[in-house]
Amino acid sequence: MIYLDNAATTRTAPEVVEAMLPFYTEHYGNPSAIYSLGSAGKKAVNEARRTIAAAIGAKQEEIYFTSGGTEADNWALKAAAESCLAKGRHIITTKIEHHAILHTCQYLEERGYEVTCLDVDREGLVDVERLKAAIRPDTILISVMLANNEIGTIEPIEEIGAVAREKGILFHTDAVQALGQIPLDVEALKVDMLSASAHKLNGPKGVGMLYIRSGTKIGSFLHGGAQERKRRAGTENVPGIVGFAAAVRRAMERMEEKAEKERALRDYLIKRIQEEIPYCRLNGHREKRLPGNVNFSFRFVEGEALVLTLGLKGICASSGSACTSGETDPSHVLRAIGLEDEEAEGSLRMTLSEENTREEIDLAADCLRETVGKLRKMNYRYEAFLKER
Ligand SMILES: *Cc1c(COP(=O)(O)O)cnc(C)c1O
Repeated sequence: MIYLDNAATTRTAPEVVEAMLPFYTEHYGNPSAIYSLGSAGKKAVNEARRTIAAAIGAKQEEIYFTSGGTEADNWALKAAAESCLAKGRHIITTKIEHHAILHTCQYLEERGYEVTCLDVDREGLVDVERLKAAIRPDTILISVMLANNEIGTIEPIEEIGAVAREKGILFHTDAVQALGQIPLDVEALKVDMLSASAHKLNGPKGVGMLYIRSGTKIGSFLHGGAQERKRRAGTENVPGIVGFAAAVRRAMERMEEKAEKERALRDYLIKRIQEEIPYCRLNGHREKRLPGNVNFSFRFVEGEALVLTLGLKGICASSGSACTSGETDPSHVLRAIGLEDEEAEGSLRMTLSEENTREEIDLAADCLRETVGKLRKMNYRYEAFLKER
């Protein structure tokens, strides 16, 4: 099997699992308990908070653990919307956000909020001048993702942060795809809130966090016990939080080396595809791009058929994003960068990890060339296109 779907999720690193296990088997006490069985968990959660805060230049009391990226995104948007009602009901985001943002925005729209979804350019970049122009006196929140999960484009978050701060507007970024891949610093980025998720960086599924800058006036998300400084109730997912921190530590230690390796494999795969498969287009920005992201559109091919056929050959990739598979609509991200339906439907995302080898990439490229060729042969539109040429 060749795993090329690391933007969907990653393999939990063995050292991460190892770090988690004692918190299931030995230190299973509730962190809120005052006997020592609980205090081990409490200590571990605090240590994890320190590790993760340090990784993004935050203070430990600014980190709130959640059940994942989706919850962090929901919290940031819904709580900001509620807390800023006195100022207004206008939110600015982009057309290429993850559904955790877009569907939460829809939910808010149904409740009387107004949402401006900014266009992006052909490469997937948000235009800061356009964003400035969209700001109104009643704008309460700007939410722009740090790096896109489908096409890998990295957004100008520092610039947007500067604009938001100057105008006194809350600024949130979904950094789920970026944490552990590229350096992040909440001060440099000038963000007030930042979402992240453990399972996208070789951590466990079902745990994530929301960074909330101290002094930011947004409310609690889950109501109940006093956990997470009364802002997110519920017994802490101690093993998950410990695993999250272990994954962050691991990612920080090897970030540059890992990125370099992924970048080399990515560029090699892009080059092979561009040289060997005609009528294709690389989606996303060529340089401002996540190290492991490869996304192509192939004309005269159905992305779903491509993914299925590659899957039968043991190659795991995706078409559109995992959250939309099963739906027949072409990806909202590919539409936003201006692809025609045909190109959007013929898209393939391959997201690499440092664990991939050159041999795997060669096999995948060979297999992709053959599969695209075979699928095109069965496509009457391709036949007609060749005749016309
Ligand atoms: C995966 C992902 C999410 C959702 O995170 P979960 O932890 O799976 O809920 C949100 N945003 C982006 C950009 C993602 O890639």
